[in-house]
Amino acid sequence: MTLRTARQDAIARISDLLHVESEYDFSVTPVPELFGSKVFNDKVMQERLPKAVYKSLKKTINDGKALDPTIADAVANAMKDWALELGATHYTHWFHPLTGLTAEKHDSFISPQEGFEAIMEFSGKELVKGEPDASSFPSGGSRATFEARGYTAWDATSPAFVRDTTLVIPTAFCSYTGEALDKKIPLLRSMDVLSTHALRILKIFGNNEATRVTTTVGPEQEYFCIDKNFFNLRQDLILTGRSLFGAKPPKGQESEDQYFGSIKPRILEFMKEVEAELWLLGVNAKTRHNEVAPSQYEIAPIYSTTNIAMDHNQLVMDVLKKTANKHGLACLLHEKPFKGVNGSGKHNNWSMSSNDGQNLLEPGDNPHNNAQFLVFLVATLRGVDKYGDLLRVAISNPGNDHRLGANEAPPAIISAFLGDQLNDIIEQLEKGPAKSSKPETFMELGVSTLPKFPKDTTDRNRTSPFAFTGNKFEFRAVPSSLSLGDPNCFLNTIVAEALDDIATELESKIKGGATVATAVSEVLTDNIKKHKRIVFNGDNYSDAWKQEAAKRGLPNFATLVDAMPALITKDKIALFEKYKVMSAKELESRYVITLEAYNKVINQEGQTTLDMGRRQILPACILYQGQIAESISETKDLLGADSVKEQLEHLKDVAGLNNQLKSKLDALEKALDHEDSDVLKHAEHFKSSVIPKMNEVREVADKLELIVDSAFWPLPTYSEMLFIV
Ligand code: ADP
Ligand code: MG
Repeated sequence: MTLRTARQDAIARISDLLHVESEYDFSVTPVPELFGSKVFNDKVMQERLPKAVYKSLKKTINDGKALDPTIADAVANAMKDWALELGATHYTHWFHPLTGLTAEKHDSFISPQEGFEAIMEFSGKELVKGEPDASSFPSGGSRATFEARGYTAWDATSPAFVRDTTLVIPTAFCSYTGEALDKKIPLLRSMDVLSTHALRILKIFGNNEATRVTTTVGPEQEYFCIDKNFFNLRQDLILTGRSLFGAKPPKGQESEDQYFGSIKPRILEFMKEVEAELWLLGVNAKTRHNEVAPSQYEIAPIYSTTNIAMDHNQLVMDVLKKTANKHGLACLLHEKPFKGVNGSGKHNNWSMSSNDGQNLLEPGDNPHNNAQFLVFLVATLRGVDKYGDLLRVAISNPGNDHRLGANEAPPAIISAFLGDQLNDIIEQLEKGPAKSSKPETFMELGVSTLPKFPKDTTDRNRTSPFAFTGNKFEFRAVPSSLSLGDPNCFLNTIVAEALDDIATELESKIKGGATVATAVSEVLTDNIKKHKRIVFNGDNYSDAWKQEAAKRGLPNFATLVDAMPALITKDKIALFEKYKVMSAKELESRYVITLEAYNKVINQEGQTTLDMGRRQILPACILYQGQIAESISETKDLLGADSVKEQLEHLKDVAGLNNQLKSKLDALEKALDHEDSDVLKHAEHFKSSVIPKMNEVREVADKLELIVDSAFWPLPTYSEMLFIV
């Protein structure tokens, strides 16, 4: 097949696929009937579990009480019967290893009986604990390979579900010696510790009802969807998730005709099916829309408890990919699949809520609530200010380096946006405790002058990495493909510390005779003075902010490699150890794993650049060069040298760029040939030597793409991939 037909064939095949319809017809099965029908949810548990077992399990789920091991058999049996009715044959412990993906190993329920017969069995032991071989999962040195043993433990707080004939049980994954080998255990620990200290604050405000505070997360997932036929012709997309080549198309996103635009029918059918699949699994998929870049979209669920949000987000990403495939599409979750158009993030909307029904970041209608709200708000700011570098680590993956700091995504400098109204209140409070003599009315807080902050008045600031949006913070710097584990674990931990410190400060002032109002007022003033520098309400994209942030002493780590060392500094180890979220060893292993993963990714990108450059682009360009050389030479023979003067310039351009491409490829190969046993040093080499060389190769290749006959070009172009669907 000639080059031309490969690409044209792809385009021809696309029209055949334009009409894949969603499998689900909601007029036959109404959504409420469908929703959660494959989830072992509260209703199913109530129906199928003995009363005492149900009550005990609910204590674990709702109040964070330890699981009573004696109920496991009863739960397992009920789960199995229910799953069999839904057509399940297997079960799996589903977990979040440190790859940031999910892992599953399926076992059937089959238990052989005498006489070649079988029954389906599932014991409490099998429900509660699994023993997958851990040796092939990254441990960052926290486990020697000979200690291959790893354990999965049932996370009863996240409901089991049936998917593709398998009962899926959400679990946590740890080593033989009890180290967390996953993203979930530290997250659950961070949720516990935040609860403990948030409850202390509530108690100070006279609330003795609440017994648990949970953090809630609503992640807005951005993604690209392109035709699978194009995808299949791009080795870079297949192997690295992003295009390593591709000239800027004549049309990009500048027309602003995509965001919230009408959704193309083919994409809509795909989205409908994604949502139905998710609803079956109890995921509250709520919002769908076109995003800023061509072929970019977003799906957002209604928020839920953080560990469930994390499980659900992994399902969202998986369902997106699998369903896209069915529709002849490829879903790209990479942060930057296409240069020159917007990348993808995962806005992590985060708040804290108590089990007496309060959203603790909801300003509320009266000053008293406002005071409590302000304590939680200021605690969050304090955590973010103290540990901005840690939040930068939390959002680090190789893809996000292309996004942060570009004029499309929040910068690598962590700051918080409050909006004018709230900022005004913070500024009033900074001036110190008020002098009024009526402490218990909280007039002194300077709050009653602005008692209500109606939710919708906080203006939007799309440039801020951490923005208050009325009743929650939107952590906007989170990358699209990342697990929600680390960003939320780190966030919870730093806020837990702030709540702990603030609770201690308040308790001691009150013990010393201060009224709650005075104590709160003083503590707020003090903390605002100390941490106000983290608040920035202006344009985060501007150069002026970079300078201002440097003046304020805020860290600015442009890349993952620069950021990572902050994870294992003394103060971070002390923080995570104090709150028993992670041990020094667990932190060290995450540091190593993240850098190792970075090195692997950049190496794969480098090798793919080399391979495509050498075996696809350069040969095509040389072929083209030969063809025009021949034509020009024939013309010259017929008409004389003058007749081809400008054409010779074109030939020279092509030949010149081909020479450059060859030498840039050789230079890249040299840079890739590098060993370093120190994982950080190796990463620095990838960052400062390999990536620039890759960029140089691309620059030349992209120039060639713009002057070489399209019939010779071996790769689907940006125009084709982004606009034909
Ligand atoms: P937008 O930011 O586009 O205006 P929304 O206000 O609808 O969108 O919220 C975006 C996400 O924030 C949704 O997933 C929503 O469920 C979530 N969200 C709303 N309230 C909370 C909360 N208290 N905690 C966590 N997430 C929340
Ligand atoms: Mg939002």
